[in-house]
Amino acid sequence: MATSIQHLQAAIKQKNDDFTRNISSARSLIKEAKNLRNAINQEAHALEEKQTQLLAQKRKAEEDVASAAAKKRKIVLAPVKTKVRKFARPKKSKPKPMNPVDEALASMPKDYRSPRPNGILNKGNMCYANAVLQGFAATLDPDWLGPVLGDHASDCKVIEGFLSLLDQIKRGEKEAFCDPSKFQNAVAVIGDPIFGGMKQEDATEWLRQINEILAHGPSYTYGRNPPTGNPLIEALLRVNEGTTRQCRSCKNEDWINNDTGDWMLTMYEPRNVPNKTHSINDLLAIKAESEMLEDYKCEACHQMGSARTWHGLRNLPEILAFKFHRTDLTGEVNPETQALKEVKKDYKVEPEVALNLAEYSINDKTRTKYSLRAVVRHIGTDLKAGHYIAYVHHEGHKWWKCDDSRVRASSLNAALSGLLDKKGRLVNNGDIAIAFYQRDGVPPSSEPDSEPVEEEYVEEEYMEVEPAQPPTPPKPIFDEGDPNFDVAAVLKYVDNALQNVNRELQEVETPLPRIPRTSDVMQAPLQMTDVVFLGPRAHARHWYDPCWWFFSRLINMENWAAYGDDI
Ligand SMILES: [Zn+2]
Repeated sequence: MATSIQHLQAAIKQKNDDFTRNISSARSLIKEAKNLRNAINQEAHALEEKQTQLLAQKRKAEEDVASAAAKKRKIVLAPVKTKVRKFARPKKSKPKPMNPVDEALASMPKDYRSPRPNGILNKGNMCYANAVLQGFAATLDPDWLGPVLGDHASDCKVIEGFLSLLDQIKRGEKEAFCDPSKFQNAVAVIGDPIFGGMKQEDATEWLRQINEILAHGPSYTYGRNPPTGNPLIEALLRVNEGTTRQCRSCKNEDWINNDTGDWMLTMYEPRNVPNKTHSINDLLAIKAESEMLEDYKCEACHQMGSARTWHGLRNLPEILAFKFHRTDLTGEVNPETQALKEVKKDYKVEPEVALNLAEYSINDKTRTKYSLRAVVRHIGTDLKAGHYIAYVHHEGHKWWKCDDSRVRASSLNAALSGLLDKKGRLVNNGDIAIAFYQRDGVPPSSEPDSEPVEEEYVEEEYMEVEPAQPPTPPKPIFDEGDPNFDVAAVLKYVDNALQNVNRELQEVETPLPRIPRTSDVMQAPLQMTDVVFLGPRAHARHWYDPCWWFFSRLINMENWAAYGDDI
């Protein structure tokens, strides 16, 4: 019985414990529910507040709109005080897509300079070609030109050679030079064979030849090319002249082509203006001079009458080369070639560092400014002989003198007019044959160079110092079997002429040193081989010619330098 009571008590205790646990669990549930209800109440309260705020904002906005509308009505009613516009507002138009040529030209470096140009090897009378190549290298960046020409360049071996040569010149390593012979031979093979002849030629003819090949590229055929070629090359290098005509009755203007275009703008020596240094503007003004044209049928007023003509440029190329016309015919016939003998006009030109062609441009009046980049100078009396050098403008506002493989720092003065050497003598650096200008380029400083470079006068100044091949012995000009040639007569003539000059010199107020006679100069009796030394002008049938040549050289020994190439 006792055990049953104990069991019952235990069961009651168990029930009691279960009940207590359930109660506490129920209480905690109720507590959680209360917390939840509080949170919901708070949230609801916040939402109510938000709603009140939004309603207030809405009312405010409605009030603003209403008051703005009221103000607007007032402005409309007020008297108009705004100014009347004189011109219509310019219409905003979408930029027109550029044509490929304009796009290529727009990407052209406007102030291209290499650090220092490399020299170009001369393997025999090619100084004219080298000087012009330096002019190209100072104006054309091969890294730009190659890609913009694309297939036109890559399909033409000669253009590829040209670009690689410009690239070699651009690299500018000290005391380095590049070999142009492959390119020059290639030009002579596809172009005019005179450029492969180891004979001095006119530098401007070489410039024309290169530009013709650049223009026609893979389809270039010597002597049979259409008048114009690749549009980019045309825009880059071609210059077209034209004449404007103004009707005297109705003032209507038109213009005519008077040439098919050239790769240079040719400047002529002005008549009746001797002993003057001419600027390009001087020469252009003479070229442009207006004239009267009679028997003119006007397109506008259909009347026969007269017109005033004026000469100018129909287009402005990005790189403009000026040629200074220096060929003059003597009227004498060269017995060897049967052609008229040519002499050089040596009028003085000093090109402007910065040039504005606005006055001479017929169509384009916007981009008319040019900057000097290079000049090609010719030393000597015959453009197809003598020596060509180039002065080019490269990095750091610096002028470099490029004399074939030799490149030296120089100055603007030397490029334009020449310098005095340390002994006060004018360095013979010839006459300007070509000037290269770049459109829109930054003009080189016209201030004197910060460290002026004095050019030292040396006798061998214009002689080749780095020959690639052993010099070939000069061909004897005289035929030893020629019965008309008399060495004794030549010597006698020279001696007599010198005696006469010495006599005249004695009569001058300040006696000058006696000019050495032939016997002083040549102790040994004159041999046949020595006659060659008298120069290329010597000719057996014109025995006075070598006398004159020799005699004039003696009087002005400084001019020896100019004949470095001939000897
Ligand atoms: Zn008219």
